[in-house]
Amino acid sequence: MNNRLADLYPASRLGAAARAARAAGLDALLLTPGPDLRYVTGYDAIQLERLTCLAVPADGAAFLVVPKLELAAAQASPVSALGLEMVAWEETHDPFRIISENLAGVGAVGLSDRMWALNVLKFRDALPSARQELASTALRGLRMRKTAAEAAALREAGAAIDRVHARVPGWLRPGLTEREVGSRIAEAILAEGHAQVDFVIVGSGPNAASPHHDLSDRVLLTGDVVVVDIGGTMPSGYCSDCTRTYAIGQPPPEFAAYYKVLQEAQEAACAFVRPGVSAGSVDDAARSLIAGAGYGEWFIHRTGHGIGLETHEDPYIVAGNTELLEPGMAFSVEPGIYPGPHGARIEDIVMCTEDGYERLNNGTRDLVVV
Ligand code: ZN
Ligand code: ZN
Ligand code: ZN
Repeated sequence: MNNRLADLYPASRLGAAARAARAAGLDALLLTPGPDLRYVTGYDAIQLERLTCLAVPADGAAFLVVPKLELAAAQASPVSALGLEMVAWEETHDPFRIISENLAGVGAVGLSDRMWALNVLKFRDALPSARQELASTALRGLRMRKTAAEAAALREAGAAIDRVHARVPGWLRPGLTEREVGSRIAEAILAEGHAQVDFVIVGSGPNAASPHHDLSDRVLLTGDVVVVDIGGTMPSGYCSDCTRTYAIGQPPPEFAAYYKVLQEAQEAACAFVRPGVSAGSVDDAARSLIAGAGYGEWFIHRTGHGIGLETHEDPYIVAGNTELLEPGMAFSVEPGIYPGPHGARIEDIVMCTEDGYERLNNGTRDLVVV
């Protein structure tokens, strides 16, 4: 494992996960491929119908159950640096039984949040006396508080998506469809250093008023406002997510009025971020300004979401969330106003620091008119 990966996925995680399981009242974590497994081991495994599962007892040695034909991949992964036992199972074996025999008598297990129901139900049968909980009851506290290495990985992801946005104005030409623009953006997301394109939203004209519109065959027109919300996963495993709103030629006059409000609200919410304030109060900081200007009914989603190995994870920046921000928490600040037949959103990833905040996206937030 190279040094950077060793910093990002330190061997000490396994012990930290076991202690977190104990603190959460769980006797073991059962982690199938996905972000929880990657967080604990660095192993970026694919979820398949054949079971791969890391068992992390609160007390005792962790072990990885892996299909025999995946063993070479597991051995080539960062898991091999952890020195844990790998139990390879053959096609006619029952991997659930291997786990239940090793965890006899456990009273509560934490299943990785993204485990398939297929496996959840098989674990219920294999460990009938074990209460099933989400692994996040143990791991969320760890995953929310980013280490310096994770912060650096998110900073690198932010810079990569900023470079893509810097190229977007060149592609917003009347006559091209959203899909055509989207495919150029997707290529650029990879070219600028991501390992994977996670999503590409190009919402033009009336589609700008639909926050999760993706791509359509609508042709871009002069006078359109275009919301571009894009993200990918870096080779490190950490994600980017950034929205900018563009205009092709002069936007409708009523648009400029609310874009200014939006920009102020996004700024105010970012500036509100510091240790000790609640996640919900960051939402209030954006929402009160937008509502005060008369656009409250058009701000129809929460202000943001945590980000890390997943694009959407804890903490959620949503009204009523009393979770207090701490240094190392990273999340989006992305208010939007969608009155139709156009709309706007501005999104940056923000990190809570010792005494305030750091933006991980730094492209201009002024309206870019192409
Ligand atoms: Zn979203
Ligand atoms: Zn986004
Ligand atoms: Zn987002």
